[in-house]
Amino acid sequence: MNAAPRASDEIISFDPATGKEVGRVTVTSPEEVKAAVARGREAFQEWRKTSFAERKRLVMAAREVILAETDDIAHLISDESGKPFGEAISMEIAPVLDLMQFFAKKAQKLLAPKRIGIGLYALLGRSSKIVYHPLGVVGIIPAWNYPFSIPLGEAVMSVMAGNTVVIKPSELTPFVGLKIGEIFEKAGFPANVVQVVTGAGETGAALVEAAPDKIMFTGSVATGKRIAAAAAKNLTSTVLELGGKDPMIVFDDANLELAAGAAVWGAFCNSGQSCSSVERLYVQEGAAADLTRKIVEKTRQLKQGVGDTEDISIGAMSSERQLKIVEDHVEDFRRAGAKIEIGGRGKGLFYEPTVITDATNEMRAMRDETFGPTLPIATFKTEEEAIRLANDSEFGLTASVWTRDYAKGKRVAQQIEAGSVCVNEVLYTHGIGTTPWGGFKNSGRGRTHGTEGLLELVQPQHIHVNRIAVLPDAWWMPYSSKAVATFRKMTRTFSSGSLIKTVPLIPQLLIRIRELFKAK
Ligand code: NAD
Repeated sequence: MNAAPRASDEIISFDPATGKEVGRVTVTSPEEVKAAVARGREAFQEWRKTSFAERKRLVMAAREVILAETDDIAHLISDESGKPFGEAISMEIAPVLDLMQFFAKKAQKLLAPKRIGIGLYALLGRSSKIVYHPLGVVGIIPAWNYPFSIPLGEAVMSVMAGNTVVIKPSELTPFVGLKIGEIFEKAGFPANVVQVVTGAGETGAALVEAAPDKIMFTGSVATGKRIAAAAAKNLTSTVLELGGKDPMIVFDDANLELAAGAAVWGAFCNSGQSCSSVERLYVQEGAAADLTRKIVEKTRQLKQGVGDTEDISIGAMSSERQLKIVEDHVEDFRRAGAKIEIGGRGKGLFYEPTVITDATNEMRAMRDETFGPTLPIATFKTEEEAIRLANDSEFGLTASVWTRDYAKGKRVAQQIEAGSVCVNEVLYTHGIGTTPWGGFKNSGRGRTHGTEGLLELVQPQHIHVNRIAVLPDAWWMPYSSKAVATFRKMTRTFSSGSLIKTVPLIPQLLIRIRELFKAK
C-alpha cells in the first residue's frame, strides 16, 4: 500500500504495485522550508544576472544527465507511482526532454523586449516597450501522478526565466522529487537555484507561508482553494492546475477504430490517473454499438501487472485512497443502472480497466472526478446535445472531438468549455511543451507551458520614452478654461484613435501649449 504512512519527522515511500518500501525521507520542518526560500532569494540575486546562453548550457547539461540515466529514472518513477516503466519513458521523460530543449533554446526569444503600439501617442514622439523581469523564488507543489515531468518542466521554465525554485514533491513520490534536485546539481547549477523540500500537505503549506514570489500548484480543487486563500495573505500569485472530468465526443462519421484506440489509451494510461484522462465518452447513437465493441475488445487485450515488465499496459493505482474512489464510482454506476461491460474489480492496488455503458450525466460518478481506469460511455443524438452534455460539468481542463468532418470538429471544439480541445487526438498535449496548458472553470487558473506559461513566471515592465521632450503636455497644470475646452475637444478627436479626426484639434493644442509656456 502506498498510503505514505509517516512518523512525525519521516515519510516512508512504498511501491504501490509490490508494497515494498522504496525508502524513507526526512520531513523538512517549516523553519527549514522558510530558510530554503530565503536561500533561494539570495541565490536569485546572482542567478537573475546570468545570460540566457549560460542558462541554456546548464539546462542542456541537465538533459544529458537524464539521457544518461533514463532507465534508472523510469524505474524510480514506476516504483514510486505504480505506472508501467514504458509509460514513465513515453509520458514523462520523453516529453520533458522535449520541453527542456525548447525552453533552453527559445526562452530568450520569447522573453525578448517587445515594442508595443501606442497609436497617436507615437506621433507625439513617444514609444513603448515591454521588458520581462524574473519574479524571484518560484514554489512548485505538484501532485503524484506525473511526479517527474510536471515539476521538472515547471522548474526548467522558471530557471530559464531567471527565477530560482523550491519544489515540494508529493508525499507519495518524494524520491522522484529528490531525483529532480540531483539532476540539476549534477548538471552544474549553482547552489540553491533549485532546491527540494520533502513532506506532506503541512510542508506544502509551509512553502506557501514562506511567501515565495509565485506558487505553481498541481493537485485537487480542494487543496487549490486552500493554497489560493493562504497565498492571498502575502499577495503571492498562483497558477492552479486542478482536476478534470474530461469528455470525448465521438460523432458517427469518425474513424471508429482510431477513436476506440484513443479512448482506451486516454482513459486507462497511468491507470486513469491523469488530470486529462477521458472520464466521459459521448458517442452518437448510430456508432455506439460498434465503438463500444471495439473498445471492449481492445481493453480485453491489455495486460495488467507490476510496471517494470515491458508488455504491461496497466500498472497499479498510486494509493489506497484513490482505489477507494474508483470502487465507489463503479458501485455508483452499478446502482444507478449503468452496465459494466468489462472490468469492475480490484485486487490489491490494481483496478481492472473498466468499460461502462448506459451512463448518464445524472449519475454522481459522471460528475465527480474519478481519477481511475474507468471509461463510462453515454450516447447523444445531435451536435447541440453533445456540446451541452460535454459542458455540463464543473470542470473544463481538456476535451476531444472525433469526426472526419474537420469543419464540424473545429466548430464543436470552440464551443467546449475547456482549456485544450483536440480534434481527432486525445490527452497528450501536455506533452507538447510549446502549447499552453490549463483549465477553465474549476480545472484551474493560469497556464503552464507555451508562451502563456512562460509569461506566468516573469513580470512585465513597461518602459515609455518621449523622444521629443521639449514641449509640455497639454494635460499638465495649471488648468484654465482654455485647458478644459481642449480636454473636451480631445474626447471627440484624439480619443477616437483616428488621425483624421484629430487634425482639427491641432490649432487648439498649440494654443494650450503656448498658454503653458507663458505660465512658467
Ligand atoms: P492534492 O491536492 O491532494 O495534493 C497535491 C499537492 O499539494 C501534494 O504535493 C500535497 O502534499 C500538497 N498539499 C496538500 N495540502 C496542502 C496545503 N494545504 N498547502 C500546500 N500544499 C498542500 O492532490 P493529489 O491527490 O496529489 O493529485 C490529484 C489531483 O491533481 C487530481 O485532482 C488531478 O486532476 C490533479 N492534477 C491536475 C493536473 C493539471 O495539470 N490540471 C495535473 C496532474 C494532476
